Amino acid sequence: MKLKIASFDFTCCEGCQLQLTNRESTLPDFLDLLDIRNFREISSEQHDDYDIALIEGSISRQDEVERLLAIRQHAKILVAFGTCACFGGVNSLKNSFPVEETIEEVYPGMKIDTLPVRKVSDIVKVDLSIPGCPVSKEEVERIVVSLVTGSLVTLPQYPVCMECKAALDTCLFELGEICLGPITRAGCNAVCPTGKTPCLGCRGAAEEINMTAFLDLVHERKLSKADLKEKLAFYNAFEAFRSNET
Ligand code: SF4
Ligand code: SF4
Ligand code: SF4
Repeated sequence: MKLKIASFDFTCCEGCQLQLTNRESTLPDFLDLLDIRNFREISSEQHDDYDIALIEGSISRQDEVERLLAIRQHAKILVAFGTCACFGGVNSLKNSFPVEETIEEVYPGMKIDTLPVRKVSDIVKVDLSIPGCPVSKEEVERIVVSLVTGSLVTLPQYPVCMECKAALDTCLFELGEICLGPITRAGCNAVCPTGKTPCLGCRGAAEEINMTAFLDLVHERKLSKADLKEKLAFYNAFEAFRSNET
């Protein structure tokens, strides 16, 4: 029997949904496993009966809170889909600015309905989190197959450094950069450091990370505390470790 699946976007760029739809080589086989009940990027179907709801985006308006609560009532499995949904994502940067003054500066005289950005689990129970900005389509396909077959859903527990080392990349710390690879969950094939860009931690913390050792590494190398703080805050994915920072 096909899984009934629905996908809903909230405050986000819809890049995670797009990731699923633009992998044309596997898309037909992937869709064969599913009964699409609601997914506006690939279907005009709109139904309220679904087994799985993919929630993309963070929550930043009252109407989004109400829509999310309604989806939770319909969904057997609710998935936080992508970094915005799992952690708040880049949208969370908004929370560090004075909102009313900033709105007045950008949209003078306009009334904008907005709340501080929250992750999905701040509002409803989340059954499964798939991080990534954007999500890895290979990982999502693997997870959906696990759900269809009733097998265990897993994410890599080790950090990005493992994938980076396997790719024989030069460590960016050796080039004087701060990279969050040692504390970030793998699963993206270390795409950023392989492209000579430091990891900003979009996949959140790996299991059992040693934040103290990581901070010592940054300090011993006399790298910028401001850069470290900015990187840790970028996706709001290390909120739980905030008291350890710098
Ligand atoms: S996690 Fe990244 S790609 Fe996905 S919706 Fe948010 S900003 Fe877009
Ligand atoms: S570049 Fe980043 S991910 Fe790669 S080994 Fe160095 S710290 Fe780890
Ligand atoms: S390297 Fe880091 S920031 Fe880049 S995709 Fe992977 S987890 Fe995200």
